[in-house]
Amino acid sequence: MMNRQVLVVEDERAIREMIAFGLRRSGFEVLEAEDSKQARASMADRRPDLLLVDWMLPDMSGLELTRLVKKDKDLRDIPIIMLTARADEQDKVTGLEGCADDYVTKPFSPRELLARINAVLRRAAPAAGEAVLSAGTLTLDAASHRVMVGEGTVPLGPTEYRLLSFFMTHAERVYSRSQLLDRVWGGNVYVEERTVDVHIRRLRKALEPFQAADFIQTVRGAGYRFSIRPV
Ligand code: CA
Repeated sequence: MMNRQVLVVEDERAIREMIAFGLRRSGFEVLEAEDSKQARASMADRRPDLLLVDWMLPDMSGLELTRLVKKDKDLRDIPIIMLTARADEQDKVTGLEGCADDYVTKPFSPRELLARINAVLRRAAPAAGEAVLSAGTLTLDAASHRVMVGEGTVPLGPTEYRLLSFFMTHAERVYSRSQLLDRVWGGNVYVEERTVDVHIRRLRKALEPFQAADFIQTVRGAGYRFSIRPV
């Protein structure tokens, strides 16, 4: 089996090397970049399985780099974990809206980082043996990790894909935010409930051009429901 490849983008050499050392010891292949320019050159050369991006980089912020990656059709499926020294909540939510899949606040232990990486990789991996699902105009192909409407592909990040996949297999039922966190994010990962709203918003935005945003319905005081019937 090929080792999973992680690209670590961090200008502080001591931190970068500490992370790289821990990951290599856990069986990952590690590439290092000290700014976004090096990171982009590295990704153009070889697509990593996961990006670890520090919030503060010398040439552009980690958030800007994350947005660039998510705009690139060849790279946007790469899961991203942000490293941040700022612990306040607004930054965390902003980081997620900027398309990171998770964040880790400094200082963190190598063990915590490894747990987050494994959780994000697990979520991003296509579930084996899943069939093609369809609901309304949407078709989800688990093998290719793609959601189609007619001939068009709906551009989805890994979390939105997981969310939609869960909804399509659990249609016509209402799920609270905490139930969605449990089922879609996995019980071991600590994320706040409003993270769900952030990803619901992004999912709707992605579905909007395909006239499918209305499938994701808000049920006041209860949570969210996937339904192909009009509200
Ligand atoms: Ca830094």
